[in-house]
Amino acid sequence: MVDYMKFLSKDVEKLEASDVREILKLLEKPGVISFAGGLPDPSTFPREELAEIARSVILEKGKAALQYAPSRGVREFIDAVKRFMERHGVYIRGEDAIIATVGSQEALYMLSEVLIDPGDVVIVEKPTYLAAVQVFRKRGARFEPIELDEDGMRVDLLEERLKRLASEGKRVKLVYLVPTCQNPTGVTMSYERRKYLLELASRYDFLVIEDDPYGLITFEERSVQPLKTLDREGRVVYLGSLSKVLAPGLRLGWAAGPEEIISVIEKLKQHVNLHASTLTQYIAAKALDGGIVERNLARVRELYRMKRDVMLEALEEYFPRGSRWTRPIGGLFIFVWLPEGVDTRALLPKAIERGVAYVPGSAFYVDGSGVNTMRLNYSYPSVEEIREGIKRLGRLLREELEGKTG
Ligand SMILES: *Cc1c(COP(=O)(O)O)cnc(C)c1O
Repeated sequence: MVDYMKFLSKDVEKLEASDVREILKLLEKPGVISFAGGLPDPSTFPREELAEIARSVILEKGKAALQYAPSRGVREFIDAVKRFMERHGVYIRGEDAIIATVGSQEALYMLSEVLIDPGDVVIVEKPTYLAAVQVFRKRGARFEPIELDEDGMRVDLLEERLKRLASEGKRVKLVYLVPTCQNPTGVTMSYERRKYLLELASRYDFLVIEDDPYGLITFEERSVQPLKTLDREGRVVYLGSLSKVLAPGLRLGWAAGPEEIISVIEKLKQHVNLHASTLTQYIAAKALDGGIVERNLARVRELYRMKRDVMLEALEEYFPRGSRWTRPIGGLFIFVWLPEGVDTRALLPKAIERGVAYVPGSAFYVDGSGVNTMRLNYSYPSVEEIREGIKRLGRLLREELEGKTG
């Protein structure tokens, strides 16, 4: 018998298994309605169009499209991304550069590697995106979570925290946030707070990672200015992704930010995987320039808005009194606060027994709070499943609460 554990590096201990991934395995159990994942509805993948593009790319541009590519990415893709961002109000500065990444996740990983040393202070929303927390934590980041409300991160609390940390001689290096249709809450940061955040970045000298996979998945006519567009000093690294607007299986995203940072990421990328897939970059470039993503977005928005509304109605009807939840203007998630005393982590096995799954909200709180919260995904389940699943969950919650008081 070989003892493999003795061969592993010390760093392996820092790899945390994700709650969400563990729970996603439950999708395989038949009959369980899952609000746990964060998957797009596969009916939105433009399969015919992508098949046609893939065929023509391989046959007509195959010599380049099947070849190695520069670490920054394929020229055609980078240019298409820039035009795509501009069509949607995401303006980068003249001094900024773009690098193609294997989804936003790789960009988060590489940024974490090049920016964070053990003990560095990273500010995050409370709650925030779990997959980002995990990569930051592996680098030894020290988190300072800042409460959010329906207008996004509470920048007034952020300012207080910055003052306090400064008085203790601690420097804040980085603020990570998902300002539009946040994961896990669905909340969108107001324009005023965006402006103020950038003022604080300037005053306290930190960088901002703007993770923006949902910026275009909005259902309401409310124009949202990306932090990147408001970024005069070059303090924002913007992360875009095709996962939610086209197809996550392409594994394509990009980071746009100061050349000085992007060039370091480029060096690291050579170690990691040389470059994102040449083939999918060529395919995506054509899909972006051909308007496939915009056409698809129209369908995605309509479908998700309808599903969001169904979930909101079902919550109203079935969830116990004393619960409250977000009303997102877009994205994939609704976040719920249940009455005090409900422990959603402890309740999950019972919920699964009743045929419904969710992610306990505490998974998204770096300080382990949020015990009475849950994240619900509405993009993946069908309309019927949303109604039935919320009904099952509501019944279970009422029983729990009655059992406690009665
Ligand atoms: C879905 C999601 C992404 C996208 O990740 P990819 O690696 O591009 O698939 C990024 N950030 C957040 C907050 C997300 O919810």
